[in-house]
Amino acid sequence: MELEAWHLLVIPLFFALGWLAARVDIRHVMQESRAVPRSYFKGLNYLLNEQPDQAIEAFLEVARLDPDTLELHFALGALFRRRGELDRAIRIHQSLVDRADLAQDQRMNALYGLGVDFLKAGLLDRAEEVFQRLETGVHALDALRNLQEIQVLTKDWQKAIVTAQRLEKLGCLSQNANTAHYHCELAASAMLRGETDAARAHLDQATRVNRRSARACLLLGDLEAQAGALDAAIAAWRRIEDINPAFLPIAAERLVQAYDRMGRHEQAVRLLQGYLEQRPSPDLLHLLFQTVAARQGWDAARELAAGELKRNPSLRALDDYLQASNALRPEAMEGRVESRLAQDLVHRQVSQIAYYQCGDCGFKARQFFWQCPACARWESISPERLEHE
Ligand SMILES: [Zn+2]
Repeated sequence: MELEAWHLLVIPLFFALGWLAARVDIRHVMQESRAVPRSYFKGLNYLLNEQPDQAIEAFLEVARLDPDTLELHFALGALFRRRGELDRAIRIHQSLVDRADLAQDQRMNALYGLGVDFLKAGLLDRAEEVFQRLETGVHALDALRNLQEIQVLTKDWQKAIVTAQRLEKLGCLSQNANTAHYHCELAASAMLRGETDAARAHLDQATRVNRRSARACLLLGDLEAQAGALDAAIAAWRRIEDINPAFLPIAAERLVQAYDRMGRHEQAVRLLQGYLEQRPSPDLLHLLFQTVAARQGWDAARELAAGELKRNPSLRALDDYLQASNALRPEAMEGRVESRLAQDLVHRQVSQIAYYQCGDCGFKARQFFWQCPACARWESISPERLEHE
């Protein structure tokens, strides 16, 4: 091929066009990078050097200089809440809510974030007000759950009942078990005020929403006992046998006291023996031991404890056995310091290791709670004291 003169002109032209295209790209990139505030790169640098506090300050500067960086505002709000800096999280979410140019879904997101901040900060009335504004829309379900949490914390049971109904309407799992507890709480308060009719009405409602509510049965028995109707009280407490036998240790103490008041001690002993034949229970066994000791004497009580020690050796059975032995022969024990010491030691150990425990979070308590004080679940605490090492 012959090289013509015009070819010599085309080659530099291609070079010039390539150089121009490259320059245009570089200029564009430079413009873009100048649009990003320097603080942004500073923030990134701090993050890469694992200096989160300085990084946050740099990003805050970006957010201040450029109010359009919405995602950055949301990210900072969530970050402050996670770090426990709730006043800063509240300020960021509040400033987002106050902005006039925000789209509806972003305003909802900001409002929900603000509600969670208030809840975590313990500003319950303000959190409740915010979540009530979110009862429709994408955050409706979470807002209702938080509202329920607040109403339970503030013991506003009537409102909690309404919220539970709304949750069910939105497709949440059945709220019947919780709702029965709310009615039981209202009944217990009415009983304290001496409002018998109101208490009975709340217990009726508790049983209507949860036919297997052991607590409603126990409270109904308490109500009858308060009015002196001991037969009716015993009938209510004994319904636990069918409804939920796990709660028998709680019901049995009341039953024994009622039989005692009626002078029907033997019936109390037979009832407890019957329960123990159905299910092993250290609490029921200890109650039987105390009842036998009070009504039939220490000989019978010691025999009972000795039998249990052979079948299921435990510190609690040993404690009962030593207590009966001491009561039977106090003069023999007086001279033997070591026997007394051993008994005291066992008794102290038993009182230290027997607890009610939450099956959900492991919280331990000497006293029985219907709602776990640690994880707030209802009926998650076993109604039987267990021995823990
Ligand atoms: Zn718990």
